[in-house]
Amino acid sequence: MGTMAFDAIETPFDKTDKIIGGSATYVAYAASNFVQPVQQISIVGYDFPQEELEHLQERGVLTDGVIIVPDKKSFFWSGRYHLDMNSRDTLVTDLNVLADFDPEVPENYQGSEFLMLGNLVPAIRQKIINQFKTRPKLIVMDTMNFWIESAWEDLKKTFTMVDVLLVNDSEARQITGEYSLVKAARKILKMGPKFLIVKKGEHGALLFHENEVFFAPALPLEEVFDPTGAGDTFAGGFIGHLAKTQDISFENMKTAIIVGSAMASFCVERFGANRLKEITKKDIDARLQEFVNLVNFDISIV
Ligand code: AMP
Repeated sequence: MGTMAFDAIETPFDKTDKIIGGSATYVAYAASNFVQPVQQISIVGYDFPQEELEHLQERGVLTDGVIIVPDKKSFFWSGRYHLDMNSRDTLVTDLNVLADFDPEVPENYQGSEFLMLGNLVPAIRQKIINQFKTRPKLIVMDTMNFWIESAWEDLKKTFTMVDVLLVNDSEARQITGEYSLVKAARKILKMGPKFLIVKKGEHGALLFHENEVFFAPALPLEEVFDPTGAGDTFAGGFIGHLAKTQDISFENMKTAIIVGSAMASFCVERFGANRLKEITKKDIDARLQEFVNLVNFDISIV
């Protein structure tokens, strides 16, 4: 669950008018490569194209939990990337339909074992967790500076309700006031989640659990076209792999963050979710092999 949205994106090299985006869109496209059906919970306005919902359905995404509001516009976000393509400024966040989203988990979604909470109003995420009659086996949550700044108390409460939290490096620093990501991770793990993933854009991702830490690189790509959605795509690949393998151990999460990194590497190759709409299992396997080659070396420790 999360937003389904229109985005307008500017990079130093190109820009788009409104294209389809939203945290839940990216999560769903990524996760559907590993498990089906993906059960989507979101809200859109009258302006959201029907064919985009159909496209998701063709990729194995159920949209029974997507509310369509007939007289309001979809969530709109606009951002501009800096020259490093790793950092960005949000130019516009128009909540539109999100302002009065009152989600209802459809009956046929009950019993789900894996729940991914993409970016959305924190209080709504709590509502969704509470609507599951049986708590999912694993709850993963992503967050964003917008909600850290505008709904901190609610967000902090949701930290206590989830198993895995994903943040990017600047958010980890913003939440804790610590520059060291190790110190920041220690503080965040005390706030509730058992596992913490710190995403570092083109510099990979760190997985923290108790006193252990694991690192997954990002693939060095010749061209990064548009990083929007990379974090959500990472999350979709991560939870998709865990759901497929039904194994939520720290060891398997190591593999899952490599899978997440591989999925994110596709996302940045085109604007929006365009690349994710076309990739196949063969593409994903080849990309995973590139990750193996990237970090595989022999060393003898004497
Ligand atoms: P990412 O690049 O992974 O951080 O995700 C970007 C996506 O998140 C875009 O497609 C936006 O539509 C969506 N988004 C941006 N701001 C928010 C927000 N405050 N809440 C929920 N989704 C958002």
